Amino acid sequence: MRVQIAAANWKMNLTVREAEKLLEVLLGESYELTENQKVVFAVPAPYLTIAEEKIAKHSQMFIAAQNVYSKKSGAYTGEVSVTMLQSIGVDHVIIGHSERREYFGETDELIAGKVNICLETNITSIFCCGEALPVREVNQQNSYVSHQLEESLFYLPAEQIVKVVIAYEPIWAIGTGKTASSEQVQEMHAFIRSQIEKRYGIEEAQSISILYGGSVKAANAKEIFSQPDVDGGLVGGASLIAEEFIAIIKALKV
Ligand code: PEP
Repeated sequence: MRVQIAAANWKMNLTVREAEKLLEVLLGESYELTENQKVVFAVPAPYLTIAEEKIAKHSQMFIAAQNVYSKKSGAYTGEVSVTMLQSIGVDHVIIGHSERREYFGETDELIAGKVNICLETNITSIFCCGEALPVREVNQQNSYVSHQLEESLFYLPAEQIVKVVIAYEPIWAIGTGKTASSEQVQEMHAFIRSQIEKRYGIEEAQSISILYGGSVKAANAKEIFSQPDVDGGLVGGASLIAEEFIAIIKALKV
């Protein structure tokens, strides 16, 4: 069974007090998570340690960084390394979010380097891919996403690729309130899985969690998550509202 994941991406939001309060409310709820479900909070870097301490007693909850650099240490002012994340117990990281690709010029090559270093240190990458609106408008989304996978993931050996979580996030649906329809989501997730199967085999394809991201909220989570190839979501805006994210966690498939 593929792991079903509700991942919150808080992006560059909240003060430390607001972050603590939000986590307290979220952790105060009872979820009855099955062994097959997990919840990940990608919090801003300054709050990673605090968040780690808060979720310590919750066995199926994890803290993620929103970014990491592709080198372990050195003269890279302002960057955060996997070694640092590991030293504070952070075991997940979002890699290649479209905002990092767009605003910080992250290339497929840099992203591949980040995936590699995470694998070396046993940190789970949540690898983001997805097309912009002009690509979707000319119906080129499959080849676009396929290229992203080829460049940054498909060079990995089978025993490594199965450790990566993929998040399909059509850029036109991120933060816009415009969710992809459940048919569009299922179609792309099935396509991604078919590409993994073609390259690696059915066992690998069936073991990788593929999350959907793009304006997921309480009102649409159940329908999107119920699609056969969707294994949960990566959630931005709605993850900052406790009731919304609680409902999203509860919408995960068992
Ligand atoms: C995201 O940031 O990954 C995201 C999907 O944002 P939103 O849910 O706000 O569209």
